[in-house]
Amino acid sequence: MTARAGRRPRGPLAGLLVALVLAGGCVVGGVDEGAPQQPGPERPRQSAAPGAERTRADGTTSVAEFKEDLAAAVDQAEVYWTAQFRESGRRFEPIRRVVAYQREGEVSCGGQALPRNNAVYCSAGDFIAYDVNWSVSAFRQVGDAFLYYLLGHEYAHGVQVRLGIRYDFTIQQELQADCMAGAYVGGSIRAQQLTLEEGDLEEFREGLLAVGDDPDQPWFAEGAHGTAEQRTDSFFRGYESGLSACNLG
Ligand SMILES: [Zn+2]
Repeated sequence: MTARAGRRPRGPLAGLLVALVLAGGCVVGGVDEGAPQQPGPERPRQSAAPGAERTRADGTTSVAEFKEDLAAAVDQAEVYWTAQFRESGRRFEPIRRVVAYQREGEVSCGGQALPRNNAVYCSAGDFIAYDVNWSVSAFRQVGDAFLYYLLGHEYAHGVQVRLGIRYDFTIQQELQADCMAGAYVGGSIRAQQLTLEEGDLEEFREGLLAVGDDPDQPWFAEGAHGTAEQRTDSFFRGYESGLSACNLG
């Protein structure tokens, strides 16, 4: 995935790390609404699809490259959402900040220290915060396209807040955010603001497969995000059909 020019190297997909992405990947709607989710058990996931490694490069992505890509993803999210809001006659206020952290407690949200190995949208302060070491590792192993998904998902939580969307169940909020992330990526590609590179769609599929809940997780559980199938369906519904598929009302 590229916002302008340039290749984005991808590392080999490692099940464990991808599981971490999922486990800690999201504190929904802000820690002010409850205790931060602790990263879940590190469970091995289905490994990558056969042949997946063929598409992956050397994995030597630097922190600087990661930050550059993340900044591009944030910029694009602002462009995308500004345009969507404008279409409905509203002004979009970008999410205030995107903050990197390295240590537990370095960043707090609504008085709660954010744990390591996490990425979150904090509604209390209207910012996205991410553990930079953990994120860079995930970036190296899953690939750059997946970074757009993760940023798109967290950014979508900020948009939900702006739209006053608040579902009864976590899973509804999460699957909608996946759909909105898909709409952001797909819409940006159709607008030729992002360019899909070879292997990117596969990265999305693999990444989404990896961030699904355990099949035995009750759908109504606090913190439920949806099964791999549900999350993949939601993301690609938004990707293909745009925001109209996401029930924004
Ligand atoms: Zn989420």
